[in-house]
Amino acid sequence: MEEPVIDPHKYDAWNNLALNLALVCWAVGLLVILGYFVKLSTTGGSKNKYDFINRYEINLLWIASIILIVGGTFFVNANVTELTTLWIFVRVFTTTMAGFFIGVIIKNLLKFYYPFFIERRLKVLRYKPRISPKTGKPMKLLSEEEEDAHMDEGMIEEENVFSVDYDVWLDEESGYKQIEKYAGHLHAIQCPECNYQTFKVTREEVIKAPSSIEEGELMKHYVCSYCGYKARKTVTLKVSTKMDETSAPATA
Ligand SMILES: [Zn+2]
Repeated sequence: MEEPVIDPHKYDAWNNLALNLALVCWAVGLLVILGYFVKLSTTGGSKNKYDFINRYEINLLWIASIILIVGGTFFVNANVTELTTLWIFVRVFTTTMAGFFIGVIIKNLLKFYYPFFIERRLKVLRYKPRISPKTGKPMKLLSEEEEDAHMDEGMIEEENVFSVDYDVWLDEESGYKQIEKYAGHLHAIQCPECNYQTFKVTREEVIKAPSSIEEGELMKHYVCSYCGYKARKTVTLKVSTKMDETSAPATA
């Protein structure tokens, strides 16, 4: 009987290729993350940073994670010494399953835990005092009651009807103002049931439209994307006021 000869270098071509592919994937994945943070740090203004993080951070980290995982699947197959059809099948299967499993874990971490970390940073950015370009001094963030006098009717209406928040920053010395828009549909809040940062407005309906003498009523529907908890909240819609009125705005 002839002894089967095992040539340890038989699959060198594949092993080298797999290793190189792994390194390329890891390099690309890390570049995506690095590129994101470089772009973020060169983005000027707290509001722009806020929008940038809110819009891209989780998605980009997810994309980078997938690329890094794919790199990992090549890496664990870069030491092949045996390559029969059965082996290929087993390796492809187990590697895919492992990659999928790690992907699911990372996806869940990004979806349910990472938002806490993002939320803290977003809060800091939203309330960080804005500097007036006129005087170079910090501006004042107006309260809900104060800000109405500085917003046009469309904005007040929008704040009333949609889950939109306007922040008005005022430079009291020069009268310069800066108005920033924050959309509730894009931004999840903490769920009262499971406490994850996954509670979002999904629908809004006007129960009663406000008139110039009577307040209206709006129903906001919230759903938690983690535990499925649903809640409704009624919000009072302010009496429509004219912009140039100097009298105190109607209280909500
Ligand atoms: Zn929940």
